[in-house]
Amino acid sequence: MIALVTGASRGIGAAAARRLAADGYTVIVHCNTNLNQAQAVADEIGGTVMQADLADFSQIDRMTDEIIRQFGRIDLLVNNAGIALNGLFQDISDADAMRLFLVDVGGTMHTAKRVLPHMLRAHQGCIINVASVWGETGAACEVHYSAAKAAVIGFTKALAKEAGPSGIRVNCVSPGVIDTDMNRMHGAETMQALAEETALCRIGTPEEVAAAIAFLASEQAGFITGQVIPVNGGFLI
Ligand code: NAD
Repeated sequence: MIALVTGASRGIGAAAARRLAADGYTVIVHCNTNLNQAQAVADEIGGTVMQADLADFSQIDRMTDEIIRQFGRIDLLVNNAGIALNGLFQDISDADAMRLFLVDVGGTMHTAKRVLPHMLRAHQGCIINVASVWGETGAACEVHYSAAKAAVIGFTKALAKEAGPSGIRVNCVSPGVIDTDMNRMHGAETMQALAEETALCRIGTPEEVAAAIAFLASEQAGFITGQVIPVNGGFLI
C-alpha cells in the first residue's frame, strides 16, 4: 500500500509518516524546502522523498506523475502540509493571505484532484485532510488560517459525498494545540494559557494526531467518511 504524506519532514507529517510505515505502508515523504530532514525521515522508515511547493500546482502535477511512474498507485493521501499566519485580520497583507489559501486550501484540493483518478481506477482509496480546531470554532488573530481550515472541512465533506459511491473515503482530523514548529511563534506564556484552556491541561503530541490518521486510514474506519475527527484534548467540546 502506497501512502503520500505531504509536509512530512517534521511535525505531524513526520509522525504520520513514521506511524503509517509501522502499519505497513510504503510512504512517500513529501517536503518543500526541508530536503535533509525529509531524507532523514525517509531513511528511517524506508520511504521515498518527493519535493514540491504546494503553492505551485505544476509542481504537484510533476510529483504525482512521478509517484505513479515509480509506484503505479496511491492508496492513501494525507494532506498535512500547511502554513499559519498570526496577526490582526486587517494587518495581514493580501499577498500573505493569498499564499496561505494557495497552500492550505489550493494545495490540499489540487493534490487530491491529481490523486483521485488513480483511486477511482482502483475503486478504492482514502484521503485524510489535516484541518484545525480553529477551522471549527475560529480564532482571533488567525482569521485567514481559521477560514482556510474551515474550507478544508467543507472540502472534506463535499468530496466524501462525491467520491463515496466509488469506494473512496475522505475524512479529516482536526488537531487542537500540538507541540510542533508551527506553534514556535507563540511564547511560553501563550502555550501555557492554551494548555490551561485544554480539558486535559496539556498540549498534544504529533504522535497523537498520527494515531488518529492511522485509524482513519485503517479498515477499522471502513464505514467512516466525511467526518471531522477532533484530536484536541478537549479544547473544544
Ligand atoms: P509544521 O510547520 O511543522 O508542518 C507544516 C509542514 O507543511 C512542513 O513540513 C512544511 O514544510 C510544509 N509546508 C508548508 N508550506 C508548504 C508548501 N508551500 N509546499 C509544501 N509543503 C509546505 O507544523 P505542523 O503542526 O506539523 O502542521 C501540520 C498540519 O497540522 C498543518 O496543516 C497545520 O495547519 C495543522 N495543524 C497544526 C496544529 C498545531 O497546533 N501544530 C493544530 C491544528 C492543525
